[in-house]
Amino acid sequence: MTISRRPRTVAYRSSHAEARDLRGQCAERRATSARAIVERRATSTGAIVERRATSTGAIVETVRMSALPQATPLPLPLPGGQAGATVTLQPLLCAEMLGPKAWFEAERGARGTLHALGIGVPKRELIRVPIVAFLIEHPGVGPILIDTGFHRAVAEGGAARNRNLGPLKLLARNVRMDPAQTAAAQLRARGVDPAELRLIVMTHLHFDHASALAEFPDATVVVSQAEWRAAGARGPALHGYNPAQLDPRLQYRTVDLHAPPAQPRGPFARTLDLFGDGSVTLLDTPGHSAGHVAILLRLREREALIAGDAIYTLATLREGKRPWRSESSTDFEESVRALGAYDREHPDALIIPGHDIDHWETLAARYE
Ligand SMILES: [Zn+2]
Repeated sequence: MTISRRPRTVAYRSSHAEARDLRGQCAERRATSARAIVERRATSTGAIVERRATSTGAIVETVRMSALPQATPLPLPLPGGQAGATVTLQPLLCAEMLGPKAWFEAERGARGTLHALGIGVPKRELIRVPIVAFLIEHPGVGPILIDTGFHRAVAEGGAARNRNLGPLKLLARNVRMDPAQTAAAQLRARGVDPAELRLIVMTHLHFDHASALAEFPDATVVVSQAEWRAAGARGPALHGYNPAQLDPRLQYRTVDLHAPPAQPRGPFARTLDLFGDGSVTLLDTPGHSAGHVAILLRLREREALIAGDAIYTLATLREGKRPWRSESSTDFEESVRALGAYDREHPDALIIPGHDIDHWETLAARYE
């Protein structure tokens, strides 16, 4: 009996490669239809491994990444908007990781890459990295979660942790997290039943933001179309995604920042008013990831801007620091330019970077 390993196939749902891939899948189905499946198992990374016996007795192994759930376009505005509405904002610290500073603020020179990867960085020099989410409350919509932080399994360890993080667990080696820190537990502590949460808005789908989606099975997830495509593309882990985190019980809805009703607002070329009342606005800020959005909130007396990973730290916004890696440095620069212009025009606004522990520790528990 011989074993031949066939090339990895990836099932796409919403990608420009869809047509080509579907043809590939059909061809494969024909080729394998006469073969009996002798084994089918899921790996810790969410891939499905199938082994089939051919008529000659050989075993053919197929590795298929689990397909993303279906996502459909979301017409805007969403219901619940109220003229002049303001929202409240509660920052949630879901975990801390230790990481090399050079990942978040790149060093120049030959050692920059090594240091960004933590090579040659003594443990005592690793910096604390907050993993965060935000609870928003809108008078006509109710509670809204922005990003989800880490799933409870990340604190508890074991096989469920491996499944949740997939290959990206290598980037999450030094997590400090109490199960009481999950976004679900923190919502519960604030009187919001996670099972009742209806709406999650994602800045992007990287593993440290999408990990806990499964804890909100009845929620609708709003994500940019570009980001959804990126998470479903080939080699997701290389781009920071673990598709296994995209639990199929949730509803995934995409918004397109490049088509009406998207419009410019201040220094931002493409924005979407989520409820049509100006209270929650998505700002197209790609670069860190393909379809990253920042979220602008109207509070009672000022604005808050959840910048996500468009800026890891305030030093990216104000001191010219840059992350070691971004999906597109051209887009990243464009997004930082717009955020910088906003910062100068709104000195009273609260701008919250994605992973800045020093800034995080200055935040209040609640903003109105
Ligand atoms: Zn992040």
